[in-house]
Amino acid sequence: METTISILKNFNNLRILAYHTVHDLANFEDQLIYIKQNYSVLSTDQIPQFLKNKILLPKRPLLITFDDGDPSVYRNAFPILKKFNIPAILFVVTDLINSKKPFWWDEVEYYLGKVEGNRKVWEIKDWPNMQRVEYLENLRKTSTKPRLNFDQLNLKQIREMQASGITIANHSHTHPMLDQCTLEEVDYEIKCSTEKLKELNFCHDIFAYPNGNHSIITESVLSKYGIEKAFLFDHKITKSTNHPFRISRLIVNDHTPLWKFKLILSGFHGRILPITRFVGKIKSKIRSKNEYINNYR
Ligand SMILES: [Zn+2]
Repeated sequence: METTISILKNFNNLRILAYHTVHDLANFEDQLIYIKQNYSVLSTDQIPQFLKNKILLPKRPLLITFDDGDPSVYRNAFPILKKFNIPAILFVVTDLINSKKPFWWDEVEYYLGKVEGNRKVWEIKDWPNMQRVEYLENLRKTSTKPRLNFDQLNLKQIREMQASGITIANHSHTHPMLDQCTLEEVDYEIKCSTEKLKELNFCHDIFAYPNGNHSIITESVLSKYGIEKAFLFDHKITKSTNHPFRISRLIVNDHTPLWKFKLILSGFHGRILPITRFVGKIKSKIRSKNEYINNYR
């Protein structure tokens, strides 16, 4: 009962969706049709006004964001967004614009293989930043594989998106885990990304934490460089009481099935997720115990 009441209270709170890549075009289009029919997507003019707290939000407000600036956003998502006249925010990694540098997590998977690489990426996310940087340098040096190249978004593509309602904003310079960085490293990241976005006439003062990793040190550096709003990756509906540097977002994927997508947008999924994760952990503990018994008896 309590859950039902608080979901109703959240009814008019802002849903900010956090996407990454887009490959499942048909499903992504279905998601946008559902959004169009059930929510008020903030317009290109409303986004900066909302971010400066200058407007009252419409009923059932929603905002779409993409992290990383993956080229699939330009190739696949952008034409569909244009078709439905839906604006969005694209958080870019400034060092990667116009480059052939891969995302660091793709590089780890390239050198170690998909399964082992993915496991390693999750491990690395908890390492001090310098250890991550040195590990990657070592992988490149010692591997027999040729260097991995990846065609990142170029400036022409980014400007084309900007001209059609996509706000280009700040996702750091090289995408480290900022809570694993020293103060100097955080300062370098924010300084470089802010300067580059200013120089290119993009939106430098809206920030999304890489991997959602937030820290108090980062907040003070964001302030220093004039950043006004920063977005988390915490799978929650935004509340008007959110700290401007801790704005919640709902995690969605292009391939999220529509029934689950609706559940996520309702806010209910974010509430039951800690419970399902807890049950999943218990199940996996029971599984490992049974495997242990089967293997060693
Ligand atoms: Zn990211």
